[in-house]
Amino acid sequence: MSKKISGYTRCSFCGRPESSVNMLISGLDSTYICDECSIKSVEIVNENKKMFQRKKPYNKNSIPKPMEIKQFLDQYVIGQEEAKRFLSVAVYNHYKRLAQNTDSDDVEIEKSNIIMVGATGTGKTLLAKTIARKLNVPFTIVDATVLTEAGYVGEDVETILTRLLQVADYNVDEAQRGIVFIDEIDKIARKSDNPSITRDVSGEGVQQGLLKLLEGSVAQVPPQGGRKHPEQKMIAVDTQNILFICGGAFDGIEKKIAQRLNTHVVGYEASLQTNHIDHNNILQYIAPQDLKSFGLIPEIVGRLPILTYLEPLDRDALRKILTEPKNSIVKQYIKLFSMDSITLQFEDEVLEYVVDKAIEFKLGARGLRAIVETIMIDSMFEMPSTTDKQLIINIDYARKKLEKTNEHRLKVA
Ligand code: ADP
Repeated sequence: MSKKISGYTRCSFCGRPESSVNMLISGLDSTYICDECSIKSVEIVNENKKMFQRKKPYNKNSIPKPMEIKQFLDQYVIGQEEAKRFLSVAVYNHYKRLAQNTDSDDVEIEKSNIIMVGATGTGKTLLAKTIARKLNVPFTIVDATVLTEAGYVGEDVETILTRLLQVADYNVDEAQRGIVFIDEIDKIARKSDNPSITRDVSGEGVQQGLLKLLEGSVAQVPPQGGRKHPEQKMIAVDTQNILFICGGAFDGIEKKIAQRLNTHVVGYEASLQTNHIDHNNILQYIAPQDLKSFGLIPEIVGRLPILTYLEPLDRDALRKILTEPKNSIVKQYIKLFSMDSITLQFEDEVLEYVVDKAIEFKLGARGLRAIVETIMIDSMFEMPSTTDKQLIINIDYARKKLEKTNEHRLKVA
């Protein structure tokens, strides 16, 4: 039974006097706790309970098969067949590893982290996000550009795991079997072949830190992220079973691939072989040594044994992206208007025009939305206040709206 105490009493936890709190609850030996401290205590207890909960046993029968995962990806991502297959298999194997009975002296399945290389805007992040919807393990996307070597401005490598802990509700066991997508991994490549010229704060040092996580080690993770500081209580996270999927544009890597292909093939037979090289999509020949030439340290490359690539998006792919995915741009606008009971329709010519402009302005898939938005903005502003219940976007309307806009405003980061 709680009791409100009068007189000069104070909370034994925060030290505030009775006059500064709403309520004081008494304990044994003249100890008291205020209302705020008692709420905080409940929160701390709950958080710690989650951290030490036993992990749920994995049900082997509920693991989605690679084909099932790929079919799911197909609903949202156009093309990128190889990347989808590689990802589906990797995720499936990740689940199987988790379902493996570790007590037996069975063959131990090693994890296979993945690296996806492809120009920006070809769907790397989209693939990662889409696969996350299908998973029932904690999943997070982190950006490698914020990472810097310990002791410098930026975030420590271990903060990658902070995000995973957060999505796992601070349940360490759950986080330890999660999946992390590290975007823009190419940004931590060594800037020069000579590691000693200057301090490469965001390069090799970060790679060394990352290596430890990829290989599997116990990392001390700051629960709230940011920089580590001595007073902070760290959470130990074992990364042995965490699957890492990395993605990067690796701008200019085509040159390294081409160089390698050219230097390796010499002589008459070789020139026959080089003729078969598709120079429009040189990325398909990517090999681990190209990542090394680009500036990833060999140990990191070794820890990312599955290397796959994304195709450049051609006209046909861009056209499909507009209408085919389950939540395609066009479908989204139709939905927005239908919520105001307005039927929206795009004439085919308009969609072709949008694709032409995305190509002309070199905006890729990311530009499609910006272009459609520019065409639609006036209608979106005006239509909800009218009684019109139908809107058909034809080519003249689209041209008129887009020509008003400065093309530079369409450029997206
Ligand atoms: P990346 O991570 O490779 O830079 P994103 O996945 O962020 O590219 O793609 C940017 C946007 O372009 C996505 O949100 C999506 O709308 C569109 N997009 C890119 N590639 C595809 C694709 N293959 N299929 C469907 N949409 C795509």
